[in-house]
Amino acid sequence: MTTATIGILGGGQLGRMLALSGYPLAIRFRIYEPSLEACAGIVAEHRVGAYDDWEELQRFAGGLDAITYEFENVPLETARFLERYVPVFPPSAALEAAQDRIAEKQNFVRLGIPTPDFAAVTTPEELGAAVTHIGLPSVLKTCRMGYDGKGQFVLRTPDDVQNAASQMDGTPYILERFIPFERELSLIAVRGRDGACVFYPLTENYHREGILRLSLCPAPNITRSLQSKAEDYLRVLLASLDYVGVLTVEFFEQDGHLIANEMAPRVHNSGHWTMNAGCVSQFENHVRAVAGLSLGSTTPRGFAAMVNLIGTLPDISAVLSLEGAFLHLYGKEPKTGRKIGHINLCADTPAQRTELVERLNDLIAVK
Ligand code: AMP
Repeated sequence: MTTATIGILGGGQLGRMLALSGYPLAIRFRIYEPSLEACAGIVAEHRVGAYDDWEELQRFAGGLDAITYEFENVPLETARFLERYVPVFPPSAALEAAQDRIAEKQNFVRLGIPTPDFAAVTTPEELGAAVTHIGLPSVLKTCRMGYDGKGQFVLRTPDDVQNAASQMDGTPYILERFIPFERELSLIAVRGRDGACVFYPLTENYHREGILRLSLCPAPNITRSLQSKAEDYLRVLLASLDYVGVLTVEFFEQDGHLIANEMAPRVHNSGHWTMNAGCVSQFENHVRAVAGLSLGSTTPRGFAAMVNLIGTLPDISAVLSLEGAFLHLYGKEPKTGRKIGHINLCADTPAQRTELVERLNDLIAVK
């Protein structure tokens, strides 16, 4: 019997779902989160402390078998400090590769993973030169701390470029070629401590105002060769980082090709459907990997969809009455733009899935 205790940096919904998934395996959890209002705090021991409070971090690490994290902006120094006491998975090299968009894209290029042309820009002169090289339209993003489309501007005209240049204040940016993609897909992979890798099917994702709204898995019309191509890319990435745990890569699909947009060294919102689709969930597989256990099935038994609840709660009893719907609430106060829960829909056929999404659409605006 396993009695491991795993530490989780960050106390949001991802930490909460990680802990919930590990309890059936008798794994215990301790979270570290500066805020008192951590929604994972209700399901795990909660240590409150800053990410640079070294004494508190050392106390947190005491007695833990491994440490993981639920968000990729954990300060690198914090992960490196903790690595001196307890194994940290995914390794801090993965955090380093994901925290800076330039490093992330350079890594994709080095490993032969297609990614949009890009250039590092900090000054108006560098922006001008990069636009000449990459062309318009292009996308200007802050190199660090950007998420859910924040810190991001599409440049379509010379006026847009001038406007962006006039606002540059020394913050490092990346300029990327704008990809007129047909759709957005993500691949979630898991690598165990022994190097074994498993992959979920490609998931199709729809965003609204920069925030993920709807995921469909398996994504419609995915050829075997597209799935294997995506798996090949992630296999190389996982091995290069000596990775342990769940890794997600978001792709654009254009003319049957995959172009990597970004990677997340953690469980991912586009993988929440795994909780109810008859396979081992991304959360449990991450916990298994971190705890050194065998990984489980990633094959869904049917056709799943996931709808995020953003800002407001739906009519709870109506959702609960919907056959094939599974409601997950995070216990967070509703607030504009805040993810407060999600609904998984499970169907036997793609047509049934579409029908279920339509029925849910009558209760909440899905798309
Ligand atoms: P990101 O923060 O990089 O995930 O970008 C947020 C969203 O902006 C993506 O999900 C895309 O819809 C869009 N986007 C980002 N980069 C590009 C790009 N190079 N070309 C076209 N759309 C993009």
